[in-house]
Amino acid sequence: MAVPKKRVSRSARDKRRANDRIISTQAVGTCPACGASRLSHHVCPSCGTYKGHKLFADADTGGDTAQT
Ligand SMILES: [Zn+2]
Repeated sequence: MAVPKKRVSRSARDKRRANDRIISTQAVGTCPACGASRLSHHVCPSCGTYKGHKLFADADTGGDTAQT
């Protein structure tokens, strides 16, 4: 198992993580089926479709239990 050679300082760690939120907001798109905002390459949380496949019903937004 790989072991870190040096401890990453709080400054370097926080600078690295500063870009995480920015990149994740770029992955937000709109659902082609219902138009709601949705993460790309993810199932739409409001209508439950992914690439034209209906994975769960509209009312049943049970979370991330849908499987492709
Ligand atoms: Zn949708």
